[in-house]
Amino acid sequence: MTTRYDVSRDELAAVLSGAPRYRVDQVWNGLYSRLGEPDTWTDLPRALRAELAARLPVALSPVTESVSDKGDTVKFLWELDGGSRIETVLMLYRDRATVCISSQAGCAMACGFCATGQAGFTRHLSAGEIVEQVVRATERARAVDRRVSNVVFMGMGEPMANEAAVWTAVERIHGDLGLSARHITISTVGIIPGIRKLAERPLPVNLAVSLHAANDALRDELVPINRRYPIDDLVGACRDYLARRNRRISFEWAMIDGVNDRDSDARELADVCRRLRPTAHVNLIPLNPTPGYPTRGSSLKRVHEFRDLLERFGANATVRQNRGTEIDAACGQLAAGQPVTLRPTRSGHTVVE
Ligand code: SAH
Repeated sequence: MTTRYDVSRDELAAVLSGAPRYRVDQVWNGLYSRLGEPDTWTDLPRALRAELAARLPVALSPVTESVSDKGDTVKFLWELDGGSRIETVLMLYRDRATVCISSQAGCAMACGFCATGQAGFTRHLSAGEIVEQVVRATERARAVDRRVSNVVFMGMGEPMANEAAVWTAVERIHGDLGLSARHITISTVGIIPGIRKLAERPLPVNLAVSLHAANDALRDELVPINRRYPIDDLVGACRDYLARRNRRISFEWAMIDGVNDRDSDARELADVCRRLRPTAHVNLIPLNPTPGYPTRGSSLKRVHEFRDLLERFGANATVRQNRGTEIDAACGQLAAGQPVTLRPTRSGHTVVE
């Protein structure tokens, strides 16, 4: 099914055949600047709006919207054509907002500590299904006077396993929704052909690599795709990316108690970071709980000690704030499960059916 945000401007013109070019441009402006339903663009002819709504349906049917962190984190659960479900997370800050979007329904990478990985792969998302997540979240942000400043491909799925659709979406988010490439981040488990492809693309987006272990034996266990794309080769692909792009690469490191938070892990990680120029920046968060993984996240005290160790060994690291754990909206918790998993909390989330 072709949905509203799947079409290019020329394809839109073909769908609205007979409409003059300036009308097509007005519709495009409606889709990417005004947002909302065509119904509300009342300066456009009613017949044109009706035709658009009928021929290009939206891709995302809302199932639930959950709120936590005193209203500052919003998780959307959507149903897609065919019945699969995906999630999008909007994080509101004082004067801006970040949207975390999904690139696949489910994920085939099978990282044991990740709820999406535990659930397995269902299907790729189309470019329109990806873009519409940003559009819907932007509408929600506008309603509370925030501007979406950043988009991160850190929701469900492996973006570099769906590179073509992800790239089309990036171009739309950049060219039509108006975000600069430096405010778009693609996070990958380390699919080397995807990273190489990305290096040839014209926009210099940020690249985040989910490293989590800096030796192959441990990474093979935590991130199974490492058996195909081991650390040395991955670092090589990152170096090539940096050689083409005036950007930093960041490494994601979910800290797992007693597994990857030892002093030796910090030393190995710092060694890997220093192989890149400029050195990679490490983002640390304690592992978030998921149903299928028995090990706990490191204590915050240990996370900070680990950060200090990294700095002592010559790497830069930031401890990232955790958002949305109480509504299963935090990193690695997206599973498109039923909202009955939600518990009432002091900050009070809501579930809207
Ligand atoms: N597949 C891509 C995009 C997912 S991004 C990737 O792997 O990068 C989600 C980030 O959250 C990744 O860094 C992922 O490794 C991390 N993550 C997964 N499960 C987590 C958990 N339980 N706690 C903290 N981070 C987790």
